[in-house]
Amino acid sequence: MTQLPQITWKCVKCGYTYTAAQPADECPACHERCEFVDVSCYTPDCAGPGTDDRLV
Ligand SMILES: [Zn+2]
Repeated sequence: MTQLPQITWKCVKCGYTYTAAQPADECPACHERCEFVDVSCYTPDCAGPGTDDRLV
């Protein structure tokens, strides 16, 4: 069994971010079918909770 990597998703409409393996169909914050962008931080020296400041 392979564990899916946790990705930080950001709603392009309201800016809500959350961590999940897959983007949700519906945004938990604005309850619309938003588009989500991957804002996960992949740099090892990232101090944040998995979010890349350059992408947010
Ligand atoms: Zn949203």
